[in-house]
Amino acid sequence: MRLVLGDQLSRGLSALAGLEPGRDVVVMFEVGEETGYVPHHPQKIALVLSAMRHFASELAAEGIAVDYVRLDDPANRHSLGAELARALARHRPARLVMTEPGEWRVWEAMRRWGADFGLETEIRPDDRFFCSREDFAALRRAGRTGRMEYFYREMRKRTGYLMAQGAPVGGQWNLDRENRKALPKGLAPPPRRRFEPDALTREVLDLVGARFAGNFGALEPFGWAVDRAGARAALAHFLADCLPGFGDYQDAMKSGEDFLFHALLSPYLNLGLLTPAEVCDAAEAEYHAGRAPLNAVEGFIRQILGWREFVRGIYWTEMPGYAETNALGATRPLPGFFWTGRSGMACLDAVIGATARHGYAHHIQRLMVTGNFALLAGIAPAEIARWYLAVYVDAFEWVELPNVQGMITHADGGRLGSKPYAASGAYINRMSDYCRGCRHDVGARLGPGACPFNALYWNFLITHEARFRANPRMAPIYRGLGRFSAEERAAITAQAEGFLAGL
Ligand code: FAD
Ligand code: SF4
Repeated sequence: MRLVLGDQLSRGLSALAGLEPGRDVVVMFEVGEETGYVPHHPQKIALVLSAMRHFASELAAEGIAVDYVRLDDPANRHSLGAELARALARHRPARLVMTEPGEWRVWEAMRRWGADFGLETEIRPDDRFFCSREDFAALRRAGRTGRMEYFYREMRKRTGYLMAQGAPVGGQWNLDRENRKALPKGLAPPPRRRFEPDALTREVLDLVGARFAGNFGALEPFGWAVDRAGARAALAHFLADCLPGFGDYQDAMKSGEDFLFHALLSPYLNLGLLTPAEVCDAAEAEYHAGRAPLNAVEGFIRQILGWREFVRGIYWTEMPGYAETNALGATRPLPGFFWTGRSGMACLDAVIGATARHGYAHHIQRLMVTGNFALLAGIAPAEIARWYLAVYVDAFEWVELPNVQGMITHADGGRLGSKPYAASGAYINRMSDYCRGCRHDVGARLGPGACPFNALYWNFLITHEARFRANPRMAPIYRGLGRFSAEERAAITAQAEGFLAGL
């Protein structure tokens, strides 16, 4: 018996290696435990279920026996363990073959199943990544995972991406400094390819509409690809239409433009419909063919080969304690406007609105708008982590949690990033047009109309001065704070506290 989980939809999955169609059965379960452990965005549930059903029907078309339990099957007992028990009774297999899951919770359960069910089980490594869990742990022991940048260079050397004679193509490892342009006036991002729901997806949309109508976010229009062919088409569209502009405008944000030049490929990578290697190979080929500039291709490959692999390594080496980290002692509950998009702050409402419409916001929106707010306002990491896990179609714990604990809230005390990504309204104003349509004044720090990000930013620095003052990367910021008088500092604190009390 071969178990395939909802984010393991790859024909090359290790659990499917050596499968013999006449002998083996593949089992797949849609269970309430997985659709309900956080209030997932309806498009996320629809995407995962539809992609699972498409994958199962592709296996069946190959002549492979697939035992598939649907969410609305009256006999469904709605947990992976309970459904496995039923499937074992149906098939009485000699052996259960699985691939390690993407989440600690499932990993713990999976390791017990052999003993629980008195069955020979085999858990194979998930080899859809560039760096295995063991490799990352070894790199860590060798002191080479302290920062993403050093891990990334190691991975460039190992894979050979954008390397020539042992050195990075173009002479530099990282071209991030070229990738911080605001979107110039008059430059229209390309229209994005959408995928019309087929009959199978329609059926899933009806099911999700009936069962999860109360969850945050719009179910339709639903335009995600749900199978490998669609995901390949989405990749081709990105390479042809968006990759050339990806680098320059990677950090830009614009009202009414929810996607800009971003890839929109994370859901397909995370579900297994695309492999990171095929995506990086394809991007590198665009550079060598002269169709995309180096800053775009290096920036894109770094996100996947560097960040995506790095956060996975952090997750597996730091769990289970990682989910409980809270180095800055943040305890504030998540404000209700994260679920309504009515904060009265144009930037937050734009990002939360895009999130509700698509189950998607791009990286800088997640990091520097909602994430920055959560950091500065001292939202409890567990509360904001639950939100990110729920609202994005690409959200799976192994990738979401390190981005929250490490990248936005600094809850891990600097394990992932050497300094917190804290910014005032000036950053948002520089990288977006949000402030022009906002009732707050981005230029003001104090007073009733002042941009809340400004007082929150300085208040954050004041509150955590003892921790961050000695951090060399924050020295210039603290020099700036040092110029404030005691009265100015007190006024900032009062302004920030007044705002936070009103949340
Ligand atoms: P692009 O901007 O076009 O980037 C290309 C690819 O690089 C992405 O598809 C993704 O696979 C990878 N990537 C880029 N940045 C990261 C990163 N920081 N960590 C891991 N992979 C990265 N990504 C998820 O896949 N799932 C999540 O649950 C998730 N949660 C996040 C939570 C927070 C607080 C933050 C700040 C970031 C999170 N990210 C997450 C990372 C990133 O924002 C998304 O991968 C990206 O926005 C997906 O859109 P895209 O495919 O258009 O990406
Ligand atoms: Fe956001 Fe402040 Fe700009 Fe308003 S003024 S959009 S709150 S950064």
